[in-house]
Amino acid sequence: MNCVFCKIAQGQIPAVAVYEDAEVMAFLDVNPIEKGHVLVVPRQHYEVIMDAPEAVLQQVTCVVRKVACALMKSGATGVNVQQNNYPAAGQVVPHLHFHVIPRYGQDAPRSWASGAGRYAFDAERDLYAQRIKEGMKP
Ligand code: 5GP
Ligand code: ZN
Repeated sequence: MNCVFCKIAQGQIPAVAVYEDAEVMAFLDVNPIEKGHVLVVPRQHYEVIMDAPEAVLQQVTCVVRKVACALMKSGATGVNVQQNNYPAAGQVVPHLHFHVIPRYGQDAPRSWASGAGRYAFDAERDLYAQRIKEGMKP
């Protein structure tokens, strides 16, 4: 498969790894938002979080936590965890990955505009909640 993160996970192209096990790999982002910006990926290819089995997500998020702890120990004052699914949400590399981004100041800019999706009416808010609840039914 012509996937850059599969190639990294299989050792076919280089990356600066900070953690590796049989299922998961964590490496530095080549175009970091902050120094120490890490990407955590499953070695197996899944495009988006919705595709990955729960057991894989458990392994990946355990590593996300380990990386976040390590960043805090090494001087970060905060950590952002971001995960994009599909181009509509800003995903560029179509292999599931979590960004773990250290912050070193006191108030990094938020990556989204709070309140931009404000509801016009309570009924509209309740409709969204209802749709999500419906979608969670097996
Ligand atoms: P996305 O927008 O898909 O959530 O983020 C993809 C991330 O992958 C970007 O932050 C980008 O800098 C990083 N990236 C893309 N290609 C490579 C690569 O070949 N090596 C590494 N280490 N990071 C990459
Ligand atoms: Zn892949």
